[in-house]
Amino acid sequence: MPLDPARTVAELRELQELTGDENGAQRVAWTDTWERSREWLGEKLAGLPLELEEDEAANQWWTLRGESERAVLIGGHIDSVPNGGWLDGCLNVMAGVEVMRRLAEDGRPAATVRLVNWADEEGARFGRSLIGSSAAAGTMHDQDELRGLRDAEGNALPEVLARHGVDLDRATEARRQLDGAAAYLELHIEQGPVLESMGLPLGVVLGTFGVERRQVTFRGQAAHAGSTPMDKRRDALAGAAKLELELREIAKRTGGGAVCTMGGVVTRPGIVTSVVETAECLLDQRHLDAVQLAEMLSNAQAASRRFAEEEDVEVEWERIWSIEPILFDEGLIELADEAIREVAGESHRLPSGPLHDAAEVSRGGVPTVMLFVQSLRGLSHTKLEDTKPEHLELAVRALDALTTKTIARVS
Ligand SMILES: [Zn+2]
Repeated sequence: MPLDPARTVAELRELQELTGDENGAQRVAWTDTWERSREWLGEKLAGLPLELEEDEAANQWWTLRGESERAVLIGGHIDSVPNGGWLDGCLNVMAGVEVMRRLAEDGRPAATVRLVNWADEEGARFGRSLIGSSAAAGTMHDQDELRGLRDAEGNALPEVLARHGVDLDRATEARRQLDGAAAYLELHIEQGPVLESMGLPLGVVLGTFGVERRQVTFRGQAAHAGSTPMDKRRDALAGAAKLELELREIAKRTGGGAVCTMGGVVTRPGIVTSVVETAECLLDQRHLDAVQLAEMLSNAQAASRRFAEEEDVEVEWERIWSIEPILFDEGLIELADEAIREVAGESHRLPSGPLHDAAEVSRGGVPTVMLFVQSLRGLSHTKLEDTKPEHLELAVRALDALTTKTIARVS
C-alpha cells in the first residue's frame, strides 16, 4: 500500500463528522465521545500486523515489530478541547496511521515503530494537561494534587479516570512504554501565524518555550474619586498599567520570539467612585532560552518596583507556575529539515509557544522533534481552526519521510 495522504484528510473529516457538532470537535478526554473516537481509531488500524496495548495511563499503543528492538515513536492526541478544531492533536494520530499502513506493507522495518495516542493532552475537563504523556515520561510528580481535582460538575478526577480503566496510583507504570524508545516524532498544526506569514507549509520545531507565570499585586489606597486631588492619589491601577506597557518593551528588547502577556487585571474596590486600592495582575512570560527568560522575569520585577515607587504604592510578586524551556534533539532537527525540504522545497525552524506531549517525552529522555504545518489565520482551539488540504497532504509526506530517515538513523 503506497502512502495515500489524501486518505488522511478524508479520515480527519470522517472523525469530525463522528465526534463533532455545529460548534466544533467534542472529543474531551474521559467522555463517551472520546471513547468513541478511540474505538474508531482502533478500527482504522485493525487488519494491520500491529500489537495493540493500552497502558496504565490510558495511552493507546500500536507496535510494528522491526529487526531492532529500538523503537521510533510517532505520537499525537485524539482528545480535543470543547468546541475544538478538526486538526489539533488528531492530525498526527491519523498521519501516523497512514505511515503505519505504508510501513506494514513494506515488510519488517529495520527498527520497531510504535504509534501512540496520548490520553488527555488538553486537560480540558480537569485543568491538568498532558496527563498520559507525563505519566509515561516519568514527569507526573503531582499525583497528590491530581487526587484533589474536580471537573465543573464536581466529579473527582480519580473516580472519572477509574471509569475509563485508569488507577491513578498506578498511572506512572506507563513509564516502561518508553523503554527502548530511540526517537519520538510529532506532527502538529502550528496554532500560530508564523508559517502562514512566511508562505511556507511546513517548519521544524526547535523546542517548547519555557514559561514563567506570576501574580503581581499592586496595593495603594482607596479614596474618593471626587475629593482626592490627582497628586494625592495612591492608585494601584497606575502601577499595573505602566507594567502592562513595559512588558511589551521587555519582550521587544529581548527578541528571539519572546512573548509577555498580562492576561488579566482585577481591581478593587472596582467601583466608579473610588481610586483603585489593589490591582491583581496575571503575568505570563515565555522564551526558548532559559537565561533570557530569567532576565525577562527580573526585568519585569525591577520595572514593577520602579512603577510602585513612582505611584507611591506597594508591589508584591507570587509564583503561579513555571516550566523550563525544552529543546528538541539536534540530530532529529536536521533530519526533519531534510524531510521538509524533500517534500516542500523549503523549511523553517521555529519555537513552539504552546506545550505539547513532545515536551514531556523529551523531558523523559527520548530524543524528540516536532513538525509544524501551517495554520490558517493562526487560529486553534476553535471550530475556525483550519489548514489547506494540500498542506495537510504535504505534512503526511513529511512525517513519512522523517520516519524513514529516523528508522535508518536508529537501526
Ligand atoms: Zn494539540
